[in-house]
Amino acid sequence: MNIMYSSTRDASRKVTASQAILKGLSEDGGLFVPDQIPVLDVSFSELSNMTYQETAYAVMKQFLTDFTQEELKSCIRAAYDSKFDTEEIAPLVQADGVYYLELFHGATIAFKDMALSILPHLLTTAAKKNQVQNEIVILTATSGDTGKAALAGFADVKGTKIIVFYPKNGVSPIQEKQMITQKGENTHVVGIHGNFDEAQTGVKQMFADQELEKELAEHGYQFSSANSINIGRLVPQIVYYVYAYARLLAKGEIQDGESINVVVPTGNFGNILAAYYAKNMGVPIAKLICASNENKVLYDFFETGKYDKNREFMLTSSPSMDILISSNLERLIYRIAGNDAQKNAALMKQLTSEGVYEITDEMKAGLKDFYGNYASEQETAGTIRELYKKTGYVLDTHTAVAAAVYQKYQAQTGDQTKTVVASTASPFKFTRSVMNAIDESYDSKSDFELADELSKIANVKIPKAIEEIRTAQVLHQTECEVSEMKDVVKRFLHV
Ligand SMILES: *Cc1c(COP(=O)(O)O)cnc(C)c1O
Repeated sequence: MNIMYSSTRDASRKVTASQAILKGLSEDGGLFVPDQIPVLDVSFSELSNMTYQETAYAVMKQFLTDFTQEELKSCIRAAYDSKFDTEEIAPLVQADGVYYLELFHGATIAFKDMALSILPHLLTTAAKKNQVQNEIVILTATSGDTGKAALAGFADVKGTKIIVFYPKNGVSPIQEKQMITQKGENTHVVGIHGNFDEAQTGVKQMFADQELEKELAEHGYQFSSANSINIGRLVPQIVYYVYAYARLLAKGEIQDGESINVVVPTGNFGNILAAYYAKNMGVPIAKLICASNENKVLYDFFETGKYDKNREFMLTSSPSMDILISSNLERLIYRIAGNDAQKNAALMKQLTSEGVYEITDEMKAGLKDFYGNYASEQETAGTIRELYKKTGYVLDTHTAVAAAVYQKYQAQTGDQTKTVVASTASPFKFTRSVMNAIDESYDSKSDFELADELSKIANVKIPKAIEEIRTAQVLHQTECEVSEMKDVVKRFLHV
């Protein structure tokens, strides 16, 4: 079966999977969606005997139908290797009756590695398949996690260069150190004198700059995106939900066909959308529990059917979920609108012009599988402390938001269905918030002292990603004004 992709805002544009990956975003501003969600063509008893890599192939081949078997397998091999510190790639750990699906065993110890380890390979393969001769230049604006994961993924990947812009004073010390020590001849990191929004706007302007596009093409370059709206990031994320179900089955924790719930700490809505796609492929998922921090725009949306981004932006201890426009929600809106691009485009236009839209009752019925709630800063910290005291297992702040929301869900519903929580970051990435949650007296220590302390109390080895930056040399020192971003890009590329 051949799956084609079309824009959520214009059904008439159909492209292949590899073309969708190359483009990232459709020209009309919409996101690419598959024209149907394929049903898994292997049984769970077969899947329960598969490795992560084999599962990845079984799932991804059904979406990326214009990739050959050899192409896809070679991408998977290159992505899910010893960069991960466990052969299982995404282990399930049980604590206090909940299964935590640890998605942070990759190079940068956040779940972004699950997709950004493979995206560079999918992208370069897609370029070859479509006779793209140009070198691909990945432009990324980051508030911390995506930048490092994209740098690690694209470092020394032939035929690509990557340029990351981050707000010079807007990321954590560990996040900055991770980025400015990045190795790789093809990597560039720039601290801008501005905030994340300005970095993001600057990058978007370069994408839309036709003169720049022409100049780049003359020098053999073209831009692409490693942002979470790329379908090449969404498809690899479906894999681990299939894998989690198969592992539960293999371990005898569930019966074949038994439903599970999934809880996802959510920001841009990419990770939970992947779980929704997995459910539509046939994974027996009952509830998709969407967990927000104090930026609870999604909770309000699930409650009322009204999406309203006009509100104060909160800075929380789970910064990767501090977001008011969840880009990937558009793919769900499109679907519950009956795959109606026109209807979806009208709502998205309202979001741009007024910052708000409201769905119909009919569309609301399409959300019945979702449950939304949120956790306050205090509830998040309390959840880290309580679980640690009870079991010795230490959650990062993002995963703790999910665990706290799951407790609320259980208290409200009494639902006893077995539940998987997507564990999206290592606690070592947000050490200070995590250690302060456990005991406020830790706050006087330095970041690396805290990592040592965390390692002791959790009985977990300090991840390589942290050890590396302790002594790593700073390799990137470029800073610039927001207005100079384009000049910096041209300088890097000798254009
Ligand atoms: C990006 C991120 C999230 C949010 O994931 P979305 O796909 O954007 O919803 C949650 N936790 C961590 C640690 C992240 O880096």
